[in-house]
Amino acid sequence: MSQLWSPAVRSLTPYVPGEQPTERLIKLNTNENPYPPAPGVAQALRDYATDHLRLYPDPASRALRQTLAETMGVGIEQTFVGNGSDEVLAFAFQAFFCHAAPLDVPDITYSFYPVYARLYGIELRKHALDDDWQVDLDALSASGERSGVILANPNAPTGHAHSLQALEALLERVTDRVVLIDEAYVDFGAESAVALVERYPNLLVTGTFSKSRSLAGLRLGYAIGAVELIDALERVKDSFNSYPVDRLASAVGIAALEDKAHFDACRNNVMATRERTVSRLEALGFSVLPSKANFVLAQHPRFEGAQLFAGLRERGILVRHFNTPALANFLRITIGTDDEMDGLVEALKALCG
Ligand SMILES: *Cc1c(COP(=O)(O)O)cnc(C)c1O
Repeated sequence: MSQLWSPAVRSLTPYVPGEQPTERLIKLNTNENPYPPAPGVAQALRDYATDHLRLYPDPASRALRQTLAETMGVGIEQTFVGNGSDEVLAFAFQAFFCHAAPLDVPDITYSFYPVYARLYGIELRKHALDDDWQVDLDALSASGERSGVILANPNAPTGHAHSLQALEALLERVTDRVVLIDEAYVDFGAESAVALVERYPNLLVTGTFSKSRSLAGLRLGYAIGAVELIDALERVKDSFNSYPVDRLASAVGIAALEDKAHFDACRNNVMATRERTVSRLEALGFSVLPSKANFVLAQHPRFEGAQLFAGLRERGILVRHFNTPALANFLRITIGTDDEMDGLVEALKALCG
């Protein structure tokens, strides 16, 4: 700690992202897509005249938001885009959750939420998952003063997804504050709550181009919700950085959204590989939580998570291990290509055999 740091910076607990190795590994630790982005993305980059970079981008990102709106079946004024959904989430915390009351959140979920809560001085009320490792929507929406409700659906790192019907029941109970549903993984088999934004003015849905659209390196995320909510996000954005989405990101994002066939092919591949991987892990004695995401959370009855993580790492395979009491025994494994998953299964066979 430095004398020069403000008290606020001293009290932060920053998020620790999964390792981004410089050597070539089978990389199954940060839920990236194993397939390249849509061919139109490469074309958009080739066509992009460098002269365009001389000028600032459209601060409202209208062209990208128009394409996003058409893709999602909403109006452009119901959309917001930012520099990764992490940034969109940060803006949402500031826009909606900075009240005196606590924010209701599952105790096992995306580990960036507690980081934002701390950054903005928001108290968290954490709710245990149920016996099946599912987010307890009843507990999350129990009455009481709150600043809001946030959940990831599918949840991370468990992969479980609730039905739209279950989410709707939660929205019927929580009407006084914003309910934020983080859909980073929705395209891998879950139902999107975007279908509900018209009926619930306090529902904000966030999403990302990082996972299902193979653009983690680009940094592009979005939010969908009522105009009133989008206006609040814009107020925060324009008080922080008027141009979070640069011209290249906008052109590339549009090209990715326009190629539905590529999007469907990639996500269908990932889902098929996931099901195949689950049965092979189960054959090795692992228990695997049912997942609607591009990762699985698995544990072995005889081998500790940390031990397997280290053994895989020695064999050139990187997965994610969380050093928390509830998750210490698990590995979170991103779904890669079939070849990558073959490599993983072979290595685990050697380690557990
Ligand atoms: C990956 C992830 C994000 C962040 O996505 P970016 O757009 O890359 O910032 C947000 N929420 C969850 C649950 C994630 O897993």
